[in-house]
Amino acid sequence: MSSPTVDTILLNSGHRIPRLGLGTWQSPSEEVRGAVVAAIEAGYRHIDTARVYKNEAAVGDGIQEAISRGLVRREDLFVTTKLWCTDHHPSRVLEACQKSLERLKLQYLDLYLVHWPVAWKPFPASQPDRTGLEPGMEPAPEIEKTPFFETWRAMEDLVDRGLVRSIGVCNCTPIFMHDLLSYARIRPAVCQVEMHPYMPQPALVQWCNKEGIHVTAYSPLGSTDRVPRLLEDAVLREVGAKYGRSPAAVALRWAYQREGASTSVIPKSVHAARIRENFELTGWALDQADMDRLSSLPTSFRYVHPAQRFGVPLF
Ligand code: NDP
Repeated sequence: MSSPTVDTILLNSGHRIPRLGLGTWQSPSEEVRGAVVAAIEAGYRHIDTARVYKNEAAVGDGIQEAISRGLVRREDLFVTTKLWCTDHHPSRVLEACQKSLERLKLQYLDLYLVHWPVAWKPFPASQPDRTGLEPGMEPAPEIEKTPFFETWRAMEDLVDRGLVRSIGVCNCTPIFMHDLLSYARIRPAVCQVEMHPYMPQPALVQWCNKEGIHVTAYSPLGSTDRVPRLLEDAVLREVGAKYGRSPAAVALRWAYQREGASTSVIPKSVHAARIRENFELTGWALDQADMDRLSSLPTSFRYVHPAQRFGVPLF
């Protein structure tokens, strides 16, 4: 059995998170099972999915295949999934978590994140698989009056029940988390946000580090098919050429090497060669001048824009 080679960080929950994980948003079910097995074979021990990605069952199949082939033990894996906006009401949180566990074929989650700090009413029973992100589908999502502290209490209950080891949030600002900390019995262990050289988020990273909240960087390669293309940036290419590495390797190493080092990164790929390449984060380093250059590129861009998805400018 191969042992994990990527570093881990101790969360405020007492559990450890591997600093590199496999992202699975937009990974089709028919491809993600193989991607998960390839990642585990390459040494990944952290897998990130969500109910809304509609691939939890296939991710679970990949995990089961890796375990049954003796590539990994369940206890050496760190599996994250997320509570969708239609499940924020405290009466629906437990069932949402149990259904994710069922699809993933797991007894517990390592991390359960609230996907967006926005509560939506559930969709009609005639549309059981709706997420609200399907373009043009009626009815449009409706905001539900569920205060976040009620959702958070239900998340804390999942920890008490032993279904979830750590809980956290995504897409939240420090001011939102500051409020959350005023009532949280169990502090968020992780905040997952978009972070890459076009969106370095230094103030958020610094604040989270101070509060003991781990930051996971999503869309670290500039996400899928979005312009401006981060991986075509002239500085990333130039820095990559200097080290004999690809722009993707430069973006991931930048994320890994940031000051404070309390961050993890979850690049998505469904291709085994890229999955392996993305794991080569250690054994080389960017010099400080290149780190500074990558942290202060003239382009600033958010790839996952909440206003388009939620009609609410959250940031
Ligand atoms: P990434 O920034 O990880 O980029 C993924 C894209 O890069 C895909 O098109 C992939 O293609 C390509 N790619 C991967 N590796 C390489 C490589 N070495 N060279 C060139 N291209 C490469 O995008 P995501 O937006 O998917 O973010 C990563 C993960 O973060 C998500 O999958 C999800 O798990 C999480 N996330 C969480 C969000 C939240 O709200 N909490 C929001 C968005 C993402 P291919 O697959 O064809 O290799």
